[in-house]
Amino acid sequence: MSSQKKILVIGSNGQIGTVLTKKLGQKFGFENVIGSDLRIPDIPTKFIFEECSVLNKEKLEEIINRYNISDVYLLAAYLSAKGEKNIDKAWDLNMNGLLHILNFAKEKKIQKIFWPSSIAVFGPSTPKNDVPQYTITEPTTIYGVSKLAGESLCNYYHNKFGVDVRSIRYPGIIGWESMPGGGTTDYAVDIFHEALKHQEYTCFLSRDRTLPMMYMDDAIQATIGIMGAQFDKIKIRTSYNLSSCHFSPNDLAEEIKKHIPSFKIKYKVDERDALAQGWPSSINDRHARNDWGWEPNFNLSQIVSDIILNLRNRYNK
Ligand code: NAD
Repeated sequence: MSSQKKILVIGSNGQIGTVLTKKLGQKFGFENVIGSDLRIPDIPTKFIFEECSVLNKEKLEEIINRYNISDVYLLAAYLSAKGEKNIDKAWDLNMNGLLHILNFAKEKKIQKIFWPSSIAVFGPSTPKNDVPQYTITEPTTIYGVSKLAGESLCNYYHNKFGVDVRSIRYPGIIGWESMPGGGTTDYAVDIFHEALKHQEYTCFLSRDRTLPMMYMDDAIQATIGIMGAQFDKIKIRTSYNLSSCHFSPNDLAEEIKKHIPSFKIKYKVDERDALAQGWPSSINDRHARNDWGWEPNFNLSQIVSDIILNLRNRYNK
């Protein structure tokens, strides 16, 4: 049997999956990366693609056996805003998808799992600033409830069955290569496209709603980093706090104006602002830094410069 890692990314068409599959392919070889999603991607992929729902356990098992999968990155989920409109489906996908993958690892069909949690596990009773790893977690969305339950499930499977599952509480993630899929921080991607196309953006979060955010490159680096760390370096098997920067829509707009001086932001707040109101403004991630050497590379001004540079290139083509 080959010792080469074989990787399955579930939810490979999504905001993070699109970029993660590319980076994993560059690192481990595209022939060793299998993407899967509900739908076939719009454009051909360099990696192998399998159309499959994570809720279809039989088909998933067949794919895992056929490719001799060792590592699974489980990204398929209902996100915060979408989840509030589909509570039953959000619970079903977010919990049963995870349970299937944990059971494959328990049965030794796969070796290692990455499963992301979110800052949505926190709620209004959590301290607002510099939120520690161990704190009050009383989420107010079904998304946050499912992520919190998922964290406990991962910890339970690790302690009881020795499953090597690794997790990060992602903050809001922004980048230029892919579009977001129904989260509360989607504004921070949309704003760049509108700024470049129309020099104007109407924001659904309020002006000063500061949230923890991260550049896609840093999120991918953390994801591949935690999966590459030695087994005994991963001391937290619920999910690690992770942080790079935090900003409000107004902070982001001011930074964009340095590149596009005519840019204007307007506000038309909707229900997503109430979801974000319960979340922290900033996160303390010292455990991730100490345990497996996490360190971010991008602050707000670097994020904005890089996104605008790349989107200008794309739109000019
Ligand atoms: P996304 O919504 O952009 O992508 C999810 C992908 O999963 C989509 O391509 C969708 O078609 C696919 N999918 C949905 N149901 C499926 C099913 N039954 N079987 C297989 N695939 C299915 O999400 P994302 O932003 O890429 O997020 C990925 C993960 O990261 C999620 O677990 C999310 O909770 C977590 N996360 C994301 C952010 C963020 O800012 N993007 C923040 C915190 C946590």
